[in-house]
Amino acid sequence: MAVRFDVITLFPELFAPFQTVGVTRRAFETRAVDVRLWPLRDHAEGVYRRVDDRPFGGGPGMVMLVEPLVRCLSAIRASQQADGAERLPVVLFSPAGKPLTQQRVEALAASPGAVLLCGRYEGIDQRFIDTFVDEEISLGDYVLSGGELPALTLMDAVARLQPGVLHDAASHQQDSFSDGLLDCPHYSRPEVLALPVREGGEPAEQPVPPVLLSGHHAHIARWRREQQLAITARRRPELIEAARARGELSKKDEDFLRGLTL
Ligand code: SAH
Repeated sequence: MAVRFDVITLFPELFAPFQTVGVTRRAFETRAVDVRLWPLRDHAEGVYRRVDDRPFGGGPGMVMLVEPLVRCLSAIRASQQADGAERLPVVLFSPAGKPLTQQRVEALAASPGAVLLCGRYEGIDQRFIDTFVDEEISLGDYVLSGGELPALTLMDAVARLQPGVLHDAASHQQDSFSDGLLDCPHYSRPEVLALPVREGGEPAEQPVPPVLLSGHHAHIARWRREQQLAITARRRPELIEAARARGELSKKDEDFLRGLTL
């Protein structure tokens, strides 16, 4: 079933590249991810088509006005109803939101979709948020100039989970976080490279880890699992704890982790 995203934005042109290249283009063309752009300016009124104004109480920057947002959301609700779609929840991108995780992406990918609200300027009049927003999502502890990149990020992550969008269906099951661990390293041809260990150094022979050439699937799977455990334990120990708490570490995994120097 397709996932539908109704995106409210002041800069719809930022979404064009997403629609024309790579995996996301395929998701778009096949409508596996059905993206509808709603330019907020279309719902502004008056000669100046205002969508923002100065903040009460003073201070720098501008605030997005409630009224154009309400009109835009009404148009979206009407369109969802006309298409027989569900009333999709409204997601606002904000540094004050809950950090986006693969778990949340997977849940959204399996859902009918959402209305994605991209903020600009200092943000949105709080009264709109209180009345209409169901969930706030953050990309991380830094400030962007708008919610468009977060919306693209979310839709990209959802798109690659749709059946038939990645060439190899198993591909995302191998990714970081899909089993709660970081991904293992990957190697391709040639088997041996003459390459300095660090840029600028003397060339040395760098072979691919031999187990990957062994053709022994069980050994390869075990090696990859251990690489995942090692990199996760070193870089994101809290993910190891979480996997342990979910009962996803085998005795073999625990033995390996005990022998690991961090
Ligand atoms: N004054 C706000 C920042 C506004 S930035 C504050 O200090 O929190 C303008 C818009 O960019 C926001 O409304 C939001 O939609 C988006 N944005 C900026 N940083 C973000 C982040 N880390 N995660 C998600 N959205 C973000």
